[in-house]
Amino acid sequence: MLRTFKRGTHPPAMKNTQDCALLEFSVPEILYIPLSQHIGAPAKAVVNVGDHVLQGQLIGEAASFVSANVYSSVSGEVTGIVKKPTAIGMEVDHVVIKNDYKYESVSLEPLENPTKEQIFARIKEAGIVGMGGATFPTHVKLSPKNPVDVFIINAAECEPYITCDYRLMLEKGQDIIDGIHCVMKVLDVKKAYIGVEANKPKAIEYLASIVPDDIVVMKLKTKYPQGAEKQLIYSITKRIVPAGGLPADVGCVVSNTHTCYSIARAIAGEPCFKRAMTVSGEGVEKKGNYWVLNGTPYSYIYEQCKGDVDEKMTHKIISGGPMMGFAQVNLNACTAKGSSSLLFLSNKEFEHHTPSQCINCGRCIHHCPMNLQPRDIDDAVQQQDYKKALDLGVMNCIECGVCSYSCPAKRTLVQSMKLAKKSIKERGIK
Ligand code: SF4
Ligand code: SF4
Repeated sequence: MLRTFKRGTHPPAMKNTQDCALLEFSVPEILYIPLSQHIGAPAKAVVNVGDHVLQGQLIGEAASFVSANVYSSVSGEVTGIVKKPTAIGMEVDHVVIKNDYKYESVSLEPLENPTKEQIFARIKEAGIVGMGGATFPTHVKLSPKNPVDVFIINAAECEPYITCDYRLMLEKGQDIIDGIHCVMKVLDVKKAYIGVEANKPKAIEYLASIVPDDIVVMKLKTKYPQGAEKQLIYSITKRIVPAGGLPADVGCVVSNTHTCYSIARAIAGEPCFKRAMTVSGEGVEKKGNYWVLNGTPYSYIYEQCKGDVDEKMTHKIISGGPMMGFAQVNLNACTAKGSSSLLFLSNKEFEHHTPSQCINCGRCIHHCPMNLQPRDIDDAVQQQDYKKALDLGVMNCIECGVCSYSCPAKRTLVQSMKLAKKSIKERGIK
């Protein structure tokens, strides 16, 4: 029996880029590097218009403990600091850099056999955040209030279409293991588990052949959202994170595969300014997995990947996966540390439905991995009764999108959950 969690669903995998090896993506002339690529306070610009910067140079300094440094991804001239929306629709400052294509670079000093304190400081200095899309600063995650005995690596990559972590596992397995050992040293844990879904047999076989005894590769049932933190912890340890609690409450810390890879690169001297990214969907000809520099405009990625495909093929553009990602109204956003994928979906891949009345089928309740009642919460939100939504436990919603996906009436349930959470926070409802 494969390990898994309760409830959840099975969207089609659509992993048609899984055999596309990681390639360097071309680099635009103008890059817009967001100063907020993470959860927490935006970084403060430490460069001015007219400055010449190097690839790997600090351009934004973390503004508080829950913040992250930002580095230039190219060498060139700073031509502006402008407000622009990110892929999640937040207006934030972006450092505009005119690429000189010289790639003059600066790196951090490589660390040989670093102590736990040196590793922690390097993770913070290099601006490492959760690269699976959560973008929580990693140094904060590695400062748990409770003792931790298990480190879990989220290699589930359960969102349809996305395959960049899969490629990292096949192509950069040793770096991932090195990054895992760094985290284990910081947390002082003796055992780590890499959770991989069963639909990635090559990655499971390869990683299992290279991991040392203190790391276990766990084959998990292919089910969405297998990569959600609480579900992953349950699948691997059978520990249940309490409502409103954190993984550390049950002795666990969870990090994504790419985060571990980026930690290894940071120890070798490379701060976080590029990442692996999947570009897919019927709207582009050159689907694949690419190393993309932070600050690359989505419009540039589309131009480079579109090929001969008619623009009318693209019906929906999504930053991230189709279950938890963010639909884009245009291609103005730019890549950041959490940009795992950019999808150009045709109307065959993403049908548009007008929501209709709830038919009380109960599917959303049956599938919700957090055991919530999305139908009732949605009802409360329609009546703007956010207190009721709070009492129904909406703050435990992990915004996985399973309810919306399962709903035959195509109700926009996850949007209701997000609206309720935002309204409860803004209005201070208790
Ligand atoms: S209510 Fe939240 S946790 Fe439950 S299925 Fe919907 S989005 Fe996921
Ligand atoms: S899945 Fe949709 S139609 Fe069924 S109970 Fe939930 S909200 Fe109503």
